[in-house]
Amino acid sequence: MSGKVWLIGAGPGDPEMLTLKAVRAMAQADVVLIDDLVNPAVLEHCPTARVISVGKRGGCRSTPQDFIHRLMLRYASQGRRVARLKGGDPCIFGRGGEEADWLAAQGIECELVNGITAGLAAATQCGISVTLRGVSRGVTLVTAHTQDDSPLNWRGLVEGRTTLVVYMGVAKLADVRKGLLDGGMAACTPVAMIENASLPAQRECRSRLADMLDDARRIALKSPAILVIGEVVGAAQQAMLARTA
Ligand code: SAH
Repeated sequence: MSGKVWLIGAGPGDPEMLTLKAVRAMAQADVVLIDDLVNPAVLEHCPTARVISVGKRGGCRSTPQDFIHRLMLRYASQGRRVARLKGGDPCIFGRGGEEADWLAAQGIECELVNGITAGLAAATQCGISVTLRGVSRGVTLVTAHTQDDSPLNWRGLVEGRTTLVVYMGVAKLADVRKGLLDGGMAACTPVAMIENASLPAQRECRSRLADMLDDARRIALKSPAILVIGEVVGAAQQAMLARTA
């Protein structure tokens, strides 16, 4: 019997945000490799599977990617069905593409299962619509953190005039702020910073581009957090005021 690997997006944290496809794949799995941003509550869907934690927060400092590759290969070659659970969506800053390519090169059957990505969930959980007729005609997902620390094309992002959703931004807030201000974004552009989106511990802070670093320090913003930057954040605030007036 030949094995198989599912690369599954487990959503932003709220276990109800799993897809039915994810639940079905988990139910078939013999082995589950779980990342640190995945809510362990989702494991109720695979009660008999062997669960291996491969995340930084799980135990060891970090599980090298190479080791994860080998684990997937070992179990799949034994004919096991492996569910690899990742936070959010596997292909949004989740290495899903890399792992799928690697498995394909090893001749292992692999299926990618979408999940709800944290950036989109974070906005929605705060009543922010990332696209909004007449306000924003697009949304751009970016990571503030790159392996080689190469800078983003901030000016290009500003000129694109889409809503910006920034992942892995907590440690890079100063760079994000400076990059966008230098790139020509208005200092008063509304910003929402959302920590632990969709979880009971969710915290949200509304700010402005110029003030976001001070505000983040004031509330001691911690990872995992998402930044939503753009006029849609202000529009959401106005809509809320209108509703409560
Ligand atoms: N594949 C994931 C992203 C992994 S990168 C996805 O699609 O969501 C890790 C980053 O995701 C974190 O640094 C943070 O910016 C964001 N993130 C993940 N879960 C989050 C949550 N519940 N709340 C806020 N941000 C989250």
